[in-house]
Amino acid sequence: MDPATVILMLAIHLIASGGLMAIVWVRMPGAPGLGRWAVASGLFGVAYLARLLAGLQGVDALGLASDGAMMLAVLLFGDGVREFVGRAPLRPLWVGVLAVLLFGAEVAAAGFGGAQARHVALNAMIGLLYAQIAWILAAERLRQTAPLHAPLALLVGIVGGLSALTLLRGAHIAHDGMQVAFHGPVAQAYYLYASVTAVMTALTLVWMMLLRLNGQLADLATRDALTGVFNRNGLAQALKQHFDQRQAAPLTLLLVDIDHFKRINDTLGHATGDAVLQAVARELTGQLRVGDFVARIGGEEFLIGCVGADPALALALADRLHRGIGRLQVPAAVGSERVGCTVSIGVSAGFDRFDGWEPAASQADEALYRVKASGRDAVQSHLR
Ligand code: GH3
Ligand code: MG
Ligand code: MG
Repeated sequence: MDPATVILMLAIHLIASGGLMAIVWVRMPGAPGLGRWAVASGLFGVAYLARLLAGLQGVDALGLASDGAMMLAVLLFGDGVREFVGRAPLRPLWVGVLAVLLFGAEVAAAGFGGAQARHVALNAMIGLLYAQIAWILAAERLRQTAPLHAPLALLVGIVGGLSALTLLRGAHIAHDGMQVAFHGPVAQAYYLYASVTAVMTALTLVWMMLLRLNGQLADLATRDALTGVFNRNGLAQALKQHFDQRQAAPLTLLLVDIDHFKRINDTLGHATGDAVLQAVARELTGQLRVGDFVARIGGEEFLIGCVGADPALALALADRLHRGIGRLQVPAAVGSERVGCTVSIGVSAGFDRFDGWEPAASQADEALYRVKASGRDAVQSHLR
C-alpha cells in the first residue's frame, strides 16, 4: 500500500476516535482521563495530516511542527492514563515544558543530522514515552477493581507493542537510512499496527470508562452515601458472596450501636452527628481484616461480619473496636470543640450458612440490648 494512503487512514482514525471521545466527554465531563485522551487523539491525527501536507521526507517548519504536536499528543495520552488510574496528572505547564524540550532535542538532531537524525530522534523519544505509559498501566493494573484488569491488560499489550515497533523503526532508520522510513515491511507494519490500534485504543478507553461508571452505579446501590460502608443491600450481597465461596469460613456478627447519639445531635447539631458517624465508620473499617466487612444498618447502628467463629477472637475484635472508638475525638461542625463518643457492642455466635444470618443478628441484638440495659459503653457476647 502507498504509505501516504496508510498515513491518511491512520489520521482519519485518530481524528474520528478523538471526536467520539470528545462527544462522550462532553456528556460525562467528570470521566477521568477522557478529556485528555480526546485531545491527544485529535492532535495526533492533525499532526499526521500536517506531515502528509509537508511531504513525508522534508525537514521544513510544518513537518517539525507536526512532530512537536505528536510528542505533545503522546504526553497528553500518558497524562490521561495517569488521571484514570489515580496518579496525579502532570501540571499543564510541565506537559508544555516537556513537549518543548523533546521538540528542541528533535530540532537539534535535525539541524545536525538532517531528515534521518530527525526521524531517529522522534521515534526514539516517542517509543520511550510509550514504554513509560505501558509501564504505568502495568504497574497500576492490579490496583484497579477486578473488572478493569482485562481492558488494562489489553492496553498494556497495545501500547507496549507500539513502543517496541516505534523503537524498532527508529533503529531501522538509523541503520538503513531514510529510504526505509516510509517504505518497506517495517514501515508498513508500523502504520498498519498504528492504524488498527488507534481504533482499538479508543474503544478500549471507552470500555474502561463504562466499567468505571458501572462500578460507581453498583456502589450507589450498595453503599451508604454518608459513611461509604455497605448499606443493607450491600450487606446482603456481601453475606451472599462470602457464603458462595467454596469452603467459606463461618462468620460472627458484631452489632455496634453508638451510645446516647441523640444527645450529640441535640447539643452539637446534626452535622456534627454526621461527622461522628463518619469517624466511627472509618475506625471500624480500619480495624477489620481482609474478608471482614461492615454495614450501616440503622441511623447509628453498624453490623460487622467477622470471618471465623472463634468466640475469643470475635470478643477481642469487639474490645479493640470499643476501645478505638472510645478514643476518637471528632471536631464539631462549628466551633473548635471536639466530641468523643462510646459504643455498646453485642456479639453473636458463629454461623456458617447465608440463611443463618438473621438468627445470628438477633443473637447480637439481644447481647447489645443487655449492654444497653446494664449502663452502655461495653461489649457482651451472646455466649456470655
Ligand atoms: P442509645 O444509647 O440508647 O442507643 O441512645 P441513642 O440516642 O444513641 O439512640 P436513639 O435510637 O434514641 O437515637 C438515634 C438517633 O440517631 C436519632 C436520630 O435522629 C439519629 N440519626 C439517625 N440517622 C442519622 C444520621 O444519618 N445523621 C445524624 N446526624 N443523626 C442520625
Ligand atoms: Mg444509640
Ligand atoms: Mg440505635
